Amino acid sequence: MGERTGRSILIAGAGPTGLALALELARRGFRPRLVSRAAGPAPINESRALGVNARTMTLLEASGASARILADARRLTKFKICSASKLLLTIDTETFRGPYCPIYALPQGETERLLLQRLSAFGIRPEWSTQVQAVSGDVRSPIVMLRHADGQTETVLPDMLIGADGAHSDVRKACGFAFPGDAIESRFFLADYRYAQPVDTSFAEMNLLNPGVLGRLPVREDRLRYVSTIEDFEPRIEHPATVLERTWKSDFTVSFRHVETMSRGNVFLAGDAAHVHSPAGARGMNLGIEDACWLAWLISEGRERDYSKLRMPVVKTVLKDTRRYTAFITLKNPLLTGGRTLLMPLLNQIPGFTAAALRKVSGQDTPPPPWIPDAR
Ligand SMILES: Cc1cc2nc3c(=O)[nH]c(=O)nc-3n(C[C@H](O)[C@H](O)[C@H](O)COP(=O)(O)OP(=O)(O)OC[C@H]3O[C@@H](n4cnc5c(N)ncnc54)[C@H](O)[C@@H]3O)c2cc1C
Repeated sequence: MGERTGRSILIAGAGPTGLALALELARRGFRPRLVSRAAGPAPINESRALGVNARTMTLLEASGASARILADARRLTKFKICSASKLLLTIDTETFRGPYCPIYALPQGETERLLLQRLSAFGIRPEWSTQVQAVSGDVRSPIVMLRHADGQTETVLPDMLIGADGAHSDVRKACGFAFPGDAIESRFFLADYRYAQPVDTSFAEMNLLNPGVLGRLPVREDRLRYVSTIEDFEPRIEHPATVLERTWKSDFTVSFRHVETMSRGNVFLAGDAAHVHSPAGARGMNLGIEDACWLAWLISEGRERDYSKLRMPVVKTVLKDTRRYTAFITLKNPLLTGGRTLLMPLLNQIPGFTAAALRKVSGQDTPPPPWIPDAR
């Protein structure tokens, strides 16, 4: 075991970020320990994230995860914006150049299971129902108390502690990272439906209801998700086939927060533990996986001190963009919503508009991973 790969690394959280981090470390010869409060991966029927972008596919290629994602996910070939059943704007993703489509649809629960499969090929399994209960000591030498499913506690002194433990991160709180930001007023409502026949899952659509919006997103060959800013949105859905059941219904509010530094001493934060924002743009899970891949590479290079410096500008860019998309979606003023409907068909005529939109959707608007030759 090399000097670097011999360092003890404790990862808190086995969501997409923790799993990707463990996988990227494992393929480079590290043996991280991965603990998670959850009893297992996210239930497939309650998958928050649905979009896996081209940047994530590039990042997960070496571990073999992208090939699995490619086999199971659906390509999104079009984004449509409509109003009163009239098509206002189409963004064709087939114009995007590169080995991958800008974004694929795959429920987060399935993505997590594919990452888990690849991880088990390296002999690493998360310790489920095991949580970080407390962190004490100095951030240079954290002392971590774990609580196992049977209530037993264990004290661990890792060389590095990585908090990939989600938006309410205990590692972040215990290690004194501030998490400034704000929440927006609007609530979002979602419902997933299963149909009797396969439906068209090749596109995502946003319907401007003025007031409010109603989005249609592909989930699986026989499932669609509808998301709206209107609580009573379900009667407005035009189902494309016979409904068998509503598989999930939920609502959520949106906050925009990020830490001011992603590391202190030998404690690092990644994914939702370090930044939360609106799902508009489908960046949350992808950004967490990107953090994980950068951190694993930096650790393998002995350069983990550079992590925060390299990732913070990316986090700030993505938060700024998702805030803009969310403001666009949640417009309420009738003058502004009317203007939005009028302007929409003109966007395709702006030179470079489609290319710029697809660069953002694909996650290629941030610096490419330097360890992957020819990465975009
Ligand atoms: C409605 C909705 C739609 C979304 N759509 C998209 C999308 O299309 N694309 C996209 O990229 N993102 C999307 N997101 C965001 C995405 O779901 C999150 O960004 C993503 O789950 C973050 O992954 P994570 O691993 O950082 O955190 P999480 O998925 O929250 O995982 C954290 C893990 O840490 C564990 N944990 C918590 N506390 C502890 C502890 N003390 N000790 C040990 N373990 C602990 C938890 O059990 C969990 O397993 C969406 C979010 C929502 C709400």
